[in-house]
Amino acid sequence: MDGRSPHTASMLDAPVNTLPGIGPRIAERLARLGIVQLRDALFHLPHRYMDRTRLMTISALIPGHTALCQGTVESVQISYGRRRSLLCRINDGTGVMQLRFFHFSKAQQQKLVQGQTLRCWGQVRTGSRSLEIIHPEYQRIDETTDTAVEQTLTPVYPLTKGLSQFRLRQLSQQALTALDNDPTALTELLPPALLRQFALSGLVDALRFAHRPPPDADTEELEQGKHPTQIRLVFEELLAHHLSLRLVRAQARQRASFPLNDTDNTYLREFLRQLPFKLTKAQQKALSEIKKDMFQATPMLRLLQGDVGSGKTVVAAITALMVIQSGYQAALMAPTEVLAEQHYFNLKQWFSTVGVPVMLLTGKQNKKEKEQALNALNTAQALIAIGTHALFQEQVAFGSVGLVIIDEQQRFGVDQRLALLEKGGAGSKAPHQLIMTATPIPRTLAMTLFADLDLSVIDELPPGRQPVRTTVISNEKRDQVIRRINAVCKAGQQVYWVCALIENSAVLQLEAAEEVQKYLTRELTELHIGLIHGRMKSAEKEAVMNDFKRGGIDLLVATTVIEVGVDVPNASLMIIENAERLGLAQLHQLRGRVGRGRQLSNCVLLYQPPLSETARIRLNRMRETNDGFAIARSDLELRGPGEILGRKQTGAPELRIADLARHGWLLPQVQQAADIIMNRYPALPGKLVNRWLTTKVDFGKV
Ligand code: ADP
Ligand code: MG
Repeated sequence: MDGRSPHTASMLDAPVNTLPGIGPRIAERLARLGIVQLRDALFHLPHRYMDRTRLMTISALIPGHTALCQGTVESVQISYGRRRSLLCRINDGTGVMQLRFFHFSKAQQQKLVQGQTLRCWGQVRTGSRSLEIIHPEYQRIDETTDTAVEQTLTPVYPLTKGLSQFRLRQLSQQALTALDNDPTALTELLPPALLRQFALSGLVDALRFAHRPPPDADTEELEQGKHPTQIRLVFEELLAHHLSLRLVRAQARQRASFPLNDTDNTYLREFLRQLPFKLTKAQQKALSEIKKDMFQATPMLRLLQGDVGSGKTVVAAITALMVIQSGYQAALMAPTEVLAEQHYFNLKQWFSTVGVPVMLLTGKQNKKEKEQALNALNTAQALIAIGTHALFQEQVAFGSVGLVIIDEQQRFGVDQRLALLEKGGAGSKAPHQLIMTATPIPRTLAMTLFADLDLSVIDELPPGRQPVRTTVISNEKRDQVIRRINAVCKAGQQVYWVCALIENSAVLQLEAAEEVQKYLTRELTELHIGLIHGRMKSAEKEAVMNDFKRGGIDLLVATTVIEVGVDVPNASLMIIENAERLGLAQLHQLRGRVGRGRQLSNCVLLYQPPLSETARIRLNRMRETNDGFAIARSDLELRGPGEILGRKQTGAPELRIADLARHGWLLPQVQQAADIIMNRYPALPGKLVNRWLTTKVDFGKV
């Protein structure tokens, strides 16, 4: 599998459970870290290092540093200060150091006797009377102890529950020894020409260095992941991830799809005629890219990226019509019920003018409703199905579904994209895929994380939109806000009041929202005030949303269920309560619910003082800009890409050593290397992918 030379059976190939001292329980925990064979331990890399190669004199210690020192116990006592603690003072002739333990056992206390020599490791700080280490690691030293210091920096590995650093150090040592005994057991996968071109060192040296750096290695550089040997490994890891996506793409290219046949476009002409606005240039450009893809015999795999409010839905609707026109069906999948329902109502209305029947399928429907919906779809009484991911769990006969549209992509991962390709069964046709997202990922990042997708960007908002004016107001000045709501509603416009989560519990959020509704009803007696929240039945939510759309509700109190996609152009003011608790991306999404009509819109970020420093930065950033890309960049700086993309649920890669915030600059080179490999070394991608990815993907068909 992993590029080992075919003729040698190396120790590195040994399954870890055959190693001495590793039983099934430990093996299972190791497997959680992706370590199944001994060689996998080589690719489980340290994230920190400790310098235990030097024994420091106490007088030379600097508060804040983590260091190794040694001295003789002078006194041991229990202190009953603010917290009961065991204090042990040691002296090495140059100075005195206090060791402080808040948790200690009787046995431990008894072994710390005057005159005993201790070697301690920990972070030094300034104590009340001398330097101090809280809870040091320590070792009692006597004549029989091997007192040699470590020869290399000590690696600190990422752990999982039930595994110790000691165990992982031991395992990596075994792997390194096996490698010493048989250096051919680990193949350099990258061809020499590529190593030269990108100035990369050899794999084995890089791994040895990463696991056991020499004492003079620059620990700071190492901890920041900037050391050339780390860059070497990061490069290979990013390359492997990127190649896995290119393989998905290659796999898609081998499938047949549902090419458009452009004989007739009555639907489309009629649809565009009744549309109350003209498409923007950016929408037209995206559509022509989509159309070009769908004329091909292989499936389209396209990401449509456009800021909140840029008009992705109408692009999706037209794409669906093109497919339907050619005699196929279409499916649209949304991440939430509210959004699925809204798309359903929009499209039902839009498509009624052209006589295309629309169907809704969500997890909340009862069995009978579902059966009816499925039946309509399977007998082609409905030509487009809209739903949550229930759409894919049910027995939908995807045989004639020629297009799958996925809205708000950030919640769907690469494995789901693959599953969709397979939906029709091997050998049968795979639908075109259009994936829409408002998450403005910087282009290089997008091209690496979504390398299996082509990219269309809607980089312009519909005309006449005025940027939303954002103000940041303390909760203490709520009265002002109430007056403003009144004025806005009197002028015939509508208002959202969003209760940001206080607790991550739907019940508590609901209670909070109901409280707010009561309060607002008392304060604003002349207004119609509605409430929408996640625990309502879809029919109830639908009724409320419709009422709001028609203007029957002036002020809509909502939990963050309205975060994505909800569209009521007459709403021109949004209040976000407890705004300091939300991240930038979420605030931007919420704010995108206003500023959709022609009137000037406002957003008020209500916060509960005092504000933390980062919350203050976030809220100011919202006030400064409406540009989703600028906000995404700030978000990237404040939080790092892993969090933005919600690494775990998205299919954005789980990386072992690469960190996109630190190593993003490598991405253009990684892409370049991937191009070369795909062209000249067809056997390599599969091997690299299997070496680095923890979830093995079956690329057998490529
Ligand atoms: P998003 O990209 O956030 O999904 P929507 O598709 O919900 O945005 O569109 C936002 C609003 O803009 C909707 O009310 C939609 O009808 C309107 N819209 C879309 N395209 C145009 C256009 N070309 N001109 C004017 N309004 C448009
Ligand atoms: Mg949308």
